[in-house]
Amino acid sequence: MSAVEAETAAAILTIDLPAIVANWRTLSARHPAGPVAGVVKADAYGLGATLVAPALHEAGCRHFFTAHLEEALAIRPLLPDAVLGVLNGLIAGTEAIHRVQSIIPVLGSLPEIALWRAEAARAGASLPAILHIDTGMSRLGLTEAEVAALAADPALLAGITLRYVMTHLVSAESADDPLNEHQRARFAALAARLPPAPRSIANSSGIFLGPRFASDLARPGAALYGINPVPDQPNPMRPVVRLTARVLSLRALEPGESVGYNATWRAARGSRIATIAVGYADGWPRRLSNRGAAIFDGRRLPLVGRVSMDLTTYDATDHPGLRPGDWLELIGPAQPLAAVAEAAETNEYEILTALGPRYHRVVVAA
Ligand SMILES: *Cc1c(COP(=O)(O)O)cnc(C)c1O
Repeated sequence: MSAVEAETAAAILTIDLPAIVANWRTLSARHPAGPVAGVVKADAYGLGATLVAPALHEAGCRHFFTAHLEEALAIRPLLPDAVLGVLNGLIAGTEAIHRVQSIIPVLGSLPEIALWRAEAARAGASLPAILHIDTGMSRLGLTEAEVAALAADPALLAGITLRYVMTHLVSAESADDPLNEHQRARFAALAARLPPAPRSIANSSGIFLGPRFASDLARPGAALYGINPVPDQPNPMRPVVRLTARVLSLRALEPGESVGYNATWRAARGSRIATIAVGYADGWPRRLSNRGAAIFDGRRLPLVGRVSMDLTTYDATDHPGLRPGDWLELIGPAQPLAAVAEAAETNEYEILTALGPRYHRVVVAA
């Protein structure tokens, strides 16, 4: 990709680092109870963790979370003094690398705690950890019985310094869902049975649930990247990505001629079809076949036919001014991420994290 300049690229993904930093500042202002971490798992939701994490750090962010150890190792050299946590837990055999690289495991079971305790004993040092309590997600995290076991036997945490005790909200984007308050109360009750430690609750949407959900550390990901944390209200976050694609070809179709694999769309009238070099291999969902749109000059071109691996086709019949080489907007001011997600019957997270490696990436520097 490096040989290709923006002027000759087929599709350009623009990533606005100042907007990500501005979103972090907005979230920080909304969470005065404690610092706001940067969740940079899944390569910063597809946008590039090695770009995003240093930009946030420069702005004052000092806590970062990834899902995998490998993701944390990739940013550790760039952020030597940051608190780096691995959300998915501790896999046996990785204890020493966590310790040596000062990467904090988020421990979510008694066996994981035992691994870390043993590492502390081997190292003859006290090691930091974050404890994850399950309050309703039922994926990772200590069960109530495991919390009870820890409460009954403090030796289980020997050699472990609790940096945070955390939980994760199930439906924080639905402010009225009683599960939020249920989880908050359950977390408070379970955390109270553990040795005193700072607490961490809110993801992006949790920050907008109000002061009851504030804690010593918030953990937003999505909102940093412009995803609306309050889906039933106007988006308070700045958009951070723009995706545009060049029209590779424009062709005239006679009525009855078909477009794409399996001929799922046929011209009902004389038509013009515009083709772009973006397909499902680039994370442009195949589910958008005959459903999505692109924007030219502020107006919609309906997506017609199947999205294929490397190409997608749009009906440009009502856009006589469109020429080969013109740029269509796929994600941007006229077609926000939320609109693409809705058309694809998924959420904004999935669209963002799927954006593929073939786009020419233009990074607006922080
Ligand atoms: C992904 C994740 C977050 C961030 O959630 P967003 O909805 O993207 O803000 C926070 N905490 C945990 C445990 C996560 O897995």
